[in-house]
Amino acid sequence: MGLALSFAFSNKKSVIKKLEITFLGGAREVGKSALFVKGNKNNILLDYGAQTSREPSFPMHVKPREVHSLLLTHAHLDHSGGVPLYFLREGVKLLTTGLTLELSTLLIEDFIKLSGFYLPFERVDLLTMAKNTERVEISESRQVADEFVVKFPNSGHLPGGTAIILEHGGRRLLYTGDVNLRDSQLISGADTDFGELDAVITESTYALVDHEPREKIESDFVAFANEVVERRGVLLVPAFSVGRAQEIACVLRSRNFKHNVAMDGMALKANDVLFRYQDFMRDPELFRKTIENIEVVSDWSQRKRLVKTPSVIIAPAGMLMGGASVFYHQELSQNEKNGITIVAFQAQGTPGRTLLDRGLTIIDGRPVPVKAEVRRFDFSGHSGRTELFEMLAKVKGKPKVYTTHGDGDSCNVFAKEITERFGFQASAPEIGDKITV
Ligand SMILES: [Zn+2]
Repeated sequence: MGLALSFAFSNKKSVIKKLEITFLGGAREVGKSALFVKGNKNNILLDYGAQTSREPSFPMHVKPREVHSLLLTHAHLDHSGGVPLYFLREGVKLLTTGLTLELSTLLIEDFIKLSGFYLPFERVDLLTMAKNTERVEISESRQVADEFVVKFPNSGHLPGGTAIILEHGGRRLLYTGDVNLRDSQLISGADTDFGELDAVITESTYALVDHEPREKIESDFVAFANEVVERRGVLLVPAFSVGRAQEIACVLRSRNFKHNVAMDGMALKANDVLFRYQDFMRDPELFRKTIENIEVVSDWSQRKRLVKTPSVIIAPAGMLMGGASVFYHQELSQNEKNGITIVAFQAQGTPGRTLLDRGLTIIDGRPVPVKAEVRRFDFSGHSGRTELFEMLAKVKGKPKVYTTHGDGDSCNVFAKEITERFGFQASAPEIGDKITV
């Protein structure tokens, strides 16, 4: 077997093989990200997500006994949703930030509640996961399994989220996870001081499009919120409970929105977790004041009163697939003085997408035109095209680049453009492909 392997370097004492990396998921798709890294004696996983949109599915499987450690970039289920599979018993170590551990636990608990029938793990397995977690700090370097040195730079994508830099036998690999170079109200933009790299595995979600300038999105959003409330309407913001809900609340506060802002559902649980990790926030004081001043919704009489009181209501689920936002949507959609804002990506087939594309909602099983004013604001947690190229321009050396985590043509086209622009060898791997670094 030795002949099939290439060698990074060798001397009399030790032979260090190149790393072999398998794309287990998240290649030419957005969903179920996972990479398997084979080292000299030990192997590690980078993320192990789940596809949650229909019946849940997972990346290609690797047996837990072949895995020394699992390194998790951030809490979104397409990166974390399959992690408990490696904690059905002891033996694997999880390395991630304390905040990512807690937010992942919150989201996976909800995942179990909604899809438990299909899942091979239960809530109790999350205890094993927590017990076997080594909490890392952002930017910290750590030795893993004697042969890897790993570093976790801030990725700017979600509170607690990081990229991963992996060093092995003198070679350096960057896995970006999901990345956002720009500051948001909640968190600072990604740390891009990567140094010299031999390989980059980058996300490609918005490789073909640019976002509008953040400043303009924020001011347009707050102007719309003011307009709706000043005409005595209610503005519903269906928002993902971790990150986006708090970001929207911080945007309103930072731009001196004077009216009532209420928050409901699982976003409130996320607030409790984030409140304990204020150091991760870009502006802890803004965050604290925002959370302290929102109206916390806790019962049905309050919900029924709120839909008649001019205010902004931030409520999960972000795609109107369940949770409190469904009730608010039904109550508010038939009155033209109300507003509904879509502030996140809406997957095909979700009620949020139907609302956005066709202006319809389903009431008592029938499609009904929505009378409330529906607007979309592009509050993305991902870098747009310009920032992805900006990130690669900051890389030192001449790395090979692998484009992942993108729909349609994004990965392929992005890879071609990277070669044209930087002269880096770049390709868009498929699920199951192996590379050596
Ligand atoms: Zn993400």
